[in-house]
Amino acid sequence: MNQDVRAKLLELQSEFARRAEATQRDLQQPVPQDWDEQAQHRQNDEVLEGLRTEARYELVRVNDALARLAAGRYGQCTRCGATIAAARLEALPQADLCTTCAELTAG
Ligand SMILES: [Zn+2]
Repeated sequence: MNQDVRAKLLELQSEFARRAEATQRDLQQPVPQDWDEQAQHRQNDEVLEGLRTEARYELVRVNDALARLAAGRYGQCTRCGATIAAARLEALPQADLCTTCAELTAG
C-alpha cells in the first residue's frame, strides 16, 4: 500500500509545485497601462495570490506526508497519534490529522 501512497503523494507534489509556479509566473505579468485593466489586474492578482498561498501550503503538507511515510509514521494523526481512517487518506493523502482532531482545529 505504501508504494501506492507514495506515488499519489509524488503526483500531488508535482501538481502543487506546478500550480505554485504557474501562479507565481502570472503574478509577475506587467501591470497594464489602461486604468480599467489595472483594476481588473489587481483583482486577478488577489485571486492568484490566494491560489499561490494555497498551493504552497498544500505542497508543504505533501512534503510532510512524504517525510512521515519515510519515517514509518504515515497515517498516524500528528496530534493525538490515532490511526487516520483509510477513507480520509484516500480522499486526502496528505492528511496529517484524524477526523476528530481536524474538526477540533477547524473551528
Ligand atoms: Zn487525532
